[in-house]
Amino acid sequence: MDSVITIPALGDNFIYLYRYNKSDALAVDPSDGSLVLRAMKEHGLNLKTILITHHHWDHVAGTVELRQKTGCKVIGADRRRIPGIDSVVEDGQILPVGDCKVRVIATPGHTSTSVCYYIEPSAGNENGILFTGDTLFVGGCGRLLECDAQSMWDSLQRLASLPDDMLVYCGHDYTLENYEFAFGIEPGNQDIKERLDQVRQAQNQCRLTVPSSILLERTTNCFLRAGTPELKAALGMPRAQAVEVFAELRRRKDIF
Ligand SMILES: [Zn+2]
Repeated sequence: MDSVITIPALGDNFIYLYRYNKSDALAVDPSDGSLVLRAMKEHGLNLKTILITHHHWDHVAGTVELRQKTGCKVIGADRRRIPGIDSVVEDGQILPVGDCKVRVIATPGHTSTSVCYYIEPSAGNENGILFTGDTLFVGGCGRLLECDAQSMWDSLQRLASLPDDMLVYCGHDYTLENYEFAFGIEPGNQDIKERLDQVRQAQNQCRLTVPSSILLERTTNCFLRAGTPELKAALGMPRAQAVEVFAELRRRKDIF
């Protein structure tokens, strides 16, 4: 029995259900309420809690309907911009959800109030699970819409320092595009080439590219590798600071 149920929505969004006991689940970023209700019914689950990573409509659109129909509680970090929010969380807070502990990690960058949620290891979740919204993608990162490059870089570093085998579930399926971009930056990098081949194969076989792991992201996500000599050389910025390299990568990806 998988503890995480992934629901593709709106073309390239991912909604997640995390089942923490036989009958109860939480949902992350429910962009489509009816898809969540259908999955709950199919798996015989009750929705108790909604975790929101950030206020964008493609992450919150189903929230009000789900709250109304199930009585679930809505949790997020932006009182003003998340519809139906019941409780506002901040960095470092630990939320007890059933028997599991959910830790809040503030990750400003994509928006000023973006957070990630880390579910600490427990039975059925040996590695720990990280829901990253639009901060960290598989092979990529979110656009800088409300913050500067330094804020996003610092947020990504916090995520990269989490345990290697922690599973990463992100908010969008941009995986193929991200590795095509990375391969264009470092055409000689064998790890990126292998990863691109794996991702292409997964897509051809209609397999999801989530979850990833912290280790896989740290070694093949070009945005997390901005501090490495290889990436600095690839961009012709050998003496630049990591954050400057990161900002240049983000700028190039914006027009990719
Ligand atoms: Zn967003």
